[in-house]
This record gives sequence, C-alpha cells and structure tokens, in this order.
Amino acid sequence: MRRIAIVGAGQAGLQLALGLRTLAPDDYEVLVVSARRPAEIRAGRVQSTQQMFEPALALERALGLGLWDAVAPRITGAELVTADPPGTRALTVTGTLRAPAQSVDLRLKTARWLELFEERGGRVEYRSLTAGELPALAAAQDLTLVATGRGPLGELFGRDKRHSPYDGPRRTLAVVYLHGVAPQPRLPGHLRLIATPGAGELFLIPGLTLSGPCDMLLWEAVPGGPLDRWHQLATPEAVLARSLELMRHHAPWEYERCAGAEPTDAGASLVGAVTPVVRHPVAEVAPGSHVLGLADAVVLNDPLAGQGCNTAAHCADHTLRRILDRGERPFDRAWQQQTFAGWWEERARHSTAFTNLLLDGAPEHMRQTLRAAAGHPEIAHRYVNGFADPADYREWLLEPERAAAYLAAVTGRPPGP
Ligand SMILES: Cc1cc2nc3c(=O)[nH]c(=O)nc-3n(C[C@H](O)[C@H](O)[C@H](O)COP(=O)(O)OP(=O)(O)OC[C@H]3O[C@@H](n4cnc5c(N)ncnc54)[C@H](O)[C@@H]3O)c2cc1C
Repeated sequence: MRRIAIVGAGQAGLQLALGLRTLAPDDYEVLVVSARRPAEIRAGRVQSTQQMFEPALALERALGLGLWDAVAPRITGAELVTADPPGTRALTVTGTLRAPAQSVDLRLKTARWLELFEERGGRVEYRSLTAGELPALAAAQDLTLVATGRGPLGELFGRDKRHSPYDGPRRTLAVVYLHGVAPQPRLPGHLRLIATPGAGELFLIPGLTLSGPCDMLLWEAVPGGPLDRWHQLATPEAVLARSLELMRHHAPWEYERCAGAEPTDAGASLVGAVTPVVRHPVAEVAPGSHVLGLADAVVLNDPLAGQGCNTAAHCADHTLRRILDRGERPFDRAWQQQTFAGWWEERARHSTAFTNLLLDGAPEHMRQTLRAAAGHPEIAHRYVNGFADPADYREWLLEPERAAAYLAAVTGRPPGP
C-alpha cells in the first residue's frame, strides 16, 4: 500500500482523498489532516459562494459525490447587467448554460464528505498542521499534498512572480446567505450579476445551505470605492442591512426582491479580501523531501469569475489520474512539477487569465463584445458558458484581434475601430 497524506479537507483535498479511496481502495492508505471536525464545520462560518459548473460537477458525480443533485437549486443561466450609471439596467446580457450549475454550501459538502471519507476507509487527523510539522509528516509518506486553500500554510510555496501581478487585493468581498428572497418572475434559476463600472459587482446566486435552498449574495467592491463599506461588519444581520442599503441605490430591482429576506443562520456571512497569487507548486520541507501544493494553496484567484471551486475540482481530478498512472514509481520532485504543470496548462492558467482580465476592468474589446452579446444570443451563450470552461475564451475573447474577427463572423459586420 502506498501512503498518501493530504493536508486540508476542502474541495480539492477531499475530492482527491475520496477519489483514491473510491477507485483504488486496496492500493492507497490515505490520511487527511483536517483543521475542523464535521460538526465544527457545520456550525462555522460560510467560506465561499462555491458555484460549480457542469464540467466540475461531472468529476464529483463520477466518484459518487454528487450527493445534493436532487435538492440543490439548478442554476440554468445568467443575467449580466451593466449598471452605468449606477442603479440602471444600461446593458443586459442573458445566456443559458448548456447544463445546470449549482452551489452547495461548502460547510454542508465538506462536512459530509469528511464523514464519507472515513466510511470509505480513510483516516482523518483533526488538527491544524503547522509548517514545522510537515517534515515529519512527509517523511512518513510516499506523497504529501498541501490543500489548505487560503490558509497560511500555502505561504510555504514561493510566489511565482511571472503570474502574480498583484501585491494586494483587487476587491473587498462580502457574502451573506439569505432565506426569503422573493422569486424571480423573469428567468427563474438564473444567476444575477450587476456590474457597476469602477465600483464593483454584486452576484445573487441560488444555492443550497444547511437549512435548505437559499440565495447567496456576493459583493465584489473596488477598494476605496462606493461599494467598499464592509469594514467591521461581523454579523449576518449587519451584512444584510448594509447590502440592502447599497442595493437600493445600485440595484433597486434586486433590492425589491431582498427587502424581506433574513440570514440563513448565525454563520451566514463572510467579509474579507483575497490577494491573488500563483505560487511555485513544490516545496522542499527537508533535504530531498518535497510536498506538492494543490488548488488555492498554489493558485489563488479572486472569486470574481467564480473559478476557484471549479479549478480545485479539476486539480483534484488531474492529480488523482496522475497518482493512479504512477503505479509503484516514486512521486519525486519532477513528477510533482509535471503534475502541477499539467493542471496549469489544462485549466488553471485559463481561469487565472480570465479572472485577472475582469479584475483589471474589462478592456475595450471585451466591452464591445458584451455590447454585441446584448443583441446576439449566440455571443451571449458563448460568453456565459465560458465560465464553465475558460480555455474557450482564448479562442475568441482574450485577444482584441480574435474578438474582432469573431464579432465580424457572428454579426456579419466588418471589425469596427
Ligand atoms: C467570498 C468567496 C466566494 C467564492 N465564490 C466562488 C464561486 O462562486 N465559485 C467558485 O468556483 N469558487 C468560489 N470561491 C473560491 C473557492 O471557494 C475556492 O477556490 C475553493 O474552495 C478552493 O478549494 P481548496 O480545496 O483549495 O481550498 P478550501 O476549499 O478553502 O479548503 C481548504 C481547507 O484546508 C483547511 N486548512 C487550512 N489550513 C489548514 C491546516 N494548517 N491544517 C489543516 N487544515 C487546514 C481549511 O480549514 C479548509 O477546510 C469563492 C471564494 C470566496 C472567498
């Protein structure tokens, strides 16, 4: 039996751990180090809005992990509104997803997955592992993976300057989960995004939490701008009150829907910020002893494009396949580097490029494309579905020349200035 340790029981760590125990239970002894027990996770704070698209959901389902398919609200499309000036529906783009997305509260998901991992013969140690403990852990394993998300252990991996253009957060974030949001008469099951240029974005996402279906609000505020009003708001009630105040001015039609809502539970809010960073994926924790970072621990993006959980699911799947293919050969430094490189090429670099483009304020060619999408369902459809597979944006959106050629082909008009 080969011994594998995974530090961090989140999307990537647990999906990989469960994958190993499900596909090859006789070949791998898997240890997960989890900072919290299932009951603590359920009683804790929300961590994300975790919207996942079909390609990532399919990876979970293949391992028997799509446990909430029958109860999670189906997100069938997206309505993207540009509010310029604030509070107006200046431009609306609506697209249908090829297959429904869903958002299952990570508290619900990871608590249950932890239990399931133990039921499937995995071993869990409940503690917050320190960097000082890693050498001993790694020495006892054939492979040690660090999947600690935004936690400080990720700093063990050096920053990769080539792909890390930011030295601070580009958005201040606020989340609150709500019961009692009025149904959407038009386009039910659609995610709502209201973007106010220069100020930030508001997302309304139908999801599933511990107490059933809910609506999740995510604010992405440009630091110092008019939406950046989250400092020291500690309770869900305070985040909801501030949300309503801001919505009244910035998205009055959504305010109407949310005015009678209540937070889902005492842990239903989160306020913070993320400094996007790409790190070198392999760390030497003792001479000749290397550990591999997974998902957010090494590629951390702002949640603006809703990529993190999806990218983490792809990371877990890619790493799982690489481990199974490796057989009895060592999981040495070169293998670890190549494992990361495969995931970066296949998925992570596309998520990072697209997210950073949005974070920096969409360039003119992209704004022109979105204006065209308002009148051309084909463009809207392709744009909305790109969130599920951002590699597609390379083909037609990221570069001005490609965007112009694509627009000309769809609209029948030659590229404009
Ligand atoms: C506000 C917000 C909204 C988001 N919305 C979306 C969205 O809509 N769609 C999307 O795809 N992504 C979204 N994301 C990003 C997404 O949540 C993450 O990218 C994803 O959870 C990363 O998975 P992971 O496995 O790397 O880390 P996580 O899921 O964060 O898991 C890491 C785990 O490691 C544990 N841990 C940390 N340190 C230690 C330690 N020292 N010892 C033991 N355990 C430790 C943590 O407790 C945690 O359980 C959002 C993020 C934020 C902040």
